[in-house]
Amino acid sequence: MSRKKIIAGNWKMHMTIEQAQQFFHELSSKLPTGRQLEYFIAPPFTALYPLLKEFKNTKIMIGAQNMHNEDKGAFTGEISPPMLTDLGVHFVILGHSERRHVFNESDSFIHKKVLAALQHKLKVILCIGETEQQRENNETKKVLSKQLTEGLKDLSNGDMDHIIIAYEPVWAIGTGKTATPEIAESAHKFVRDELEKLFSSGVAQQVSILYGGSVKPDNIAELSAQENIDGALIGGASLKADSYLEIIQHAKD
Ligand code: PEP
Repeated sequence: MSRKKIIAGNWKMHMTIEQAQQFFHELSSKLPTGRQLEYFIAPPFTALYPLLKEFKNTKIMIGAQNMHNEDKGAFTGEISPPMLTDLGVHFVILGHSERRHVFNESDSFIHKKVLAALQHKLKVILCIGETEQQRENNETKKVLSKQLTEGLKDLSNGDMDHIIIAYEPVWAIGTGKTATPEIAESAHKFVRDELEKLFSSGVAQQVSILYGGSVKPDNIAELSAQENIDGALIGGASLKADSYLEIIQHAKD
């Protein structure tokens, strides 16, 4: 079964509206035709409205980097699922390692957000990944299994049509230390096997699993050539249209 291959950019806390619009103009005019890849970008909240207004019907899927699980209420500084769907957002990233480790988000909070996103028909990129310490302690599998089991609790096989997993080892994010293709592939294979245990082999074969962690134009070819790597979630190298386009050029369909 062929899975969707996705090149996703996470802009984190970067880009003004004008910079974001310039990027999208450049990207949409240079996107290659005839590729089997899907293109996702998660700009900061402030750029969502202008970008969706202008680029909603292009090949670029525009998503949010986070959201709260509640529809509304006294949650100063938060953004709700209906606020995102009101804008026409296509997807949301949940459980990014910066949310887990800088903002102390727990698996149970992330799980509530996953349920809320599905209820509001938002596609989810659920990020999972171990820290350097956990890898050194041989806890990688335990950590990935817990993040998957808790993040995807109570989901049906049908719900999994709307879930994309991003394996992002925390030690590789923004550090320039990319996992070798072998290390990444072995984690992705483990994740796929866990999905089979949690759901079914059909679900496991159909879910796209992206790799994230210092992906660049010069390492995407080897990473995306691995059997269980279905694309990438990219931070730093997605901030310039040229480098995002170069990654697309080298990625396997
Ligand atoms: C990310 O933010 O999800 C990420 C993988 O960042 P970087 O590509 O900069 O390591």
